[in-house]
Amino acid sequence: MKKTKDRIDRKAAKTQYILSIDLGGTNIECALVDRKGNVRIKKTCPTETWKGGKAVLSNIVSIANAVMREAKSKKHRVAAVSIGTPGAVDQKTGRVIGGAENIPGWKGIPLVPALKKEFCLPTFASNDVTLYALGEAMFGAGRGAKEIVCLTLGTGIGGGIITGGKIYRGAIDGAGEVGHMTVKLDGKRDNCGSFGCLERYASATAIAEMGREACKKDKKSLLLKLAGGNADEISAKTVFDAAKKGDETAKNVVEKAGWFLGAGIANLINLLNPEMVIIGGGVAKAGTILLRIIRKAIKTYGLKVNTKDVKIVLGELKSNAGVVGAAALAWQEIDGKERGSSLAL
Ligand SMILES: [Zn+2]
Repeated sequence: MKKTKDRIDRKAAKTQYILSIDLGGTNIECALVDRKGNVRIKKTCPTETWKGGKAVLSNIVSIANAVMREAKSKKHRVAAVSIGTPGAVDQKTGRVIGGAENIPGWKGIPLVPALKKEFCLPTFASNDVTLYALGEAMFGAGRGAKEIVCLTLGTGIGGGIITGGKIYRGAIDGAGEVGHMTVKLDGKRDNCGSFGCLERYASATAIAEMGREACKKDKKSLLLKLAGGNADEISAKTVFDAAKKGDETAKNVVEKAGWFLGAGIANLINLLNPEMVIIGGGVAKAGTILLRIIRKAIKTYGLKVNTKDVKIVLGELKSNAGVVGAAALAWQEIDGKERGSSLAL
């Protein structure tokens, strides 16, 4: 019996893991992720954004230490630390440099230096949606593809670009903000300060808002019934549920959002010529009903030469997408170093 246990322990010790962290607006998730994207010892704690940036960093360190302790007790080897965060991370200093307005005081936090000091391991960080895109590319719907554009449809719309199988960061790690593409010049004001951003017309927030508006004109809509008679309770899910049941008002809302999305994606396809566009996030759960409209809009607005072979698919990574994405970056950097690339750890 003891022999078997020793063998298992030796096998476990050989397997290396990334201590992987996903910082969300509500929760922090931390787990060990192996080379194949398998997740072990996942722990979650509240982010407590209202306490400010330093408190959030201290929550991250606490949960990461909890996972690390368990990893040590199980003799798991941890090769590196990696974290996905809202906003952008300066790749020279490892500091958060903005775009994370939902966490007060997060801008300027020395994220990478703090985690490096705590765990004495190579440490990586980038925008959470960019890392989601890399996770899908390495372990999800994008396996085998090198040129990928990824969109996450949730409260807002995020994006990530993979080119040559690697993250496209842009000049300051700020690339991929597809939710802020202008799709209507005289459109609604967005939180970012601009007008007519894609996320004002196709995010879960926007779809719910359009559903509530549409209800004012059509009091008989199934939307109102599904929301228990209270228009304020209409969510994006209510809109998709009613549309699937054939409600015309809800179908019109989905159609409108789908066309905006499709037009935005057509612009991305014209610009970047990806092999594949992956759509993830909560709204993607609407599935085929939305994909059908998006594909139609892409044919209408995109250049035929770029759109004819492009695959438009739903993301495959589900609840572990954040930690798997963060780990993908670390594995890629480590492998790059092993192959003798110039990437510094
Ligand atoms: Zn915007």
